Amino acid sequence: MADLSGKTGLIVGVANKRSIAWAIAQAASNAGARVAVTFQGQRLEENVRDLAAGLSDPLVLPLDVTSDEQIANVFQEIDRTFGGLDFVVHGAAFAPPGELSNPFVQTTRDGFKLALDVSAYSLIALSRGALPLLEKKGGGSIVTLTYLGSERVFQNYNVMGVAKAALESTVRYLAADLGPKNIRVNAISAGPIKTLAAAGVSGFSSILQVYRDRAPLRRTIDTSEVADAAIFLLSNAGRAVTAEVLMVDGGYHATGM
Ligand code: NAP
Repeated sequence: MADLSGKTGLIVGVANKRSIAWAIAQAASNAGARVAVTFQGQRLEENVRDLAAGLSDPLVLPLDVTSDEQIANVFQEIDRTFGGLDFVVHGAAFAPPGELSNPFVQTTRDGFKLALDVSAYSLIALSRGALPLLEKKGGGSIVTLTYLGSERVFQNYNVMGVAKAALESTVRYLAADLGPKNIRVNAISAGPIKTLAAAGVSGFSSILQVYRDRAPLRRTIDTSEVADAAIFLLSNAGRAVTAEVLMVDGGYHATGM
């Protein structure tokens, strides 16, 4: 396992113990990093604080990524406590439930705006907020989470597929913008995993079965496998990798039929 000793990171997108971001937080902490984890709204605060208690000396902060004020507060607090940042993990995504079950042509203007704001624009806003803290450390690594629905059609993934396409493009533009400051920006495209967000996609279980039947590895993946890939990208082991979408999906993306 790559080493993150002495490094500090921000991890956004922990809802519960099944969250991909939670697996990354645990793996980063086990690799020696000190992390800040965030929760969205009071509904999740207790849950996230209980989970974070298992990390080494964590910082736990509120963050709704649609709020510029909360983003500013998070980085102010992290700077005060950590004195800089080495990495950021972005695992926030949302689309209103109706947008993930109605026919795609019925996508509403408000649903589109909210899905793109939470799931794609937020990576720009977080990267901008993190920039001075990453620069203090001479550079860093930003990782987001995406899905193959960005380029292929999966039933009911709908506007989230459009948001993931925007997110992956955002990764490339940010990588180009921030690369000269030694800041790398990458995405992991994870295979389907049963989490809270995934449960919002109608018929998600049938997607899991298709992966079991057709992925080269003939199985689905788990959050620890995404976390291992994330640690590679966050650590010095991934120092020449940027503007990349790394597929962690048992090879499903390569199948034709
Ligand atoms: P998850 O546990 O539900 O995590 C999604 C997180 O996004 C939750 O913590 C959620 O908080 C947060 N979020 C939503 N709106 C937010 C906002 N306005 N501000 C801050 N946080 C907000 O599900 P997950 O599957 O681990 O998702 C993590 C990432 O992986 C997402 O980008 C997802 O699209 C991506 N991904 C998932 C899969 C999969 O099959 N599970 C596959 C590929 C990629 P709330 O619960 O409060 O809304």
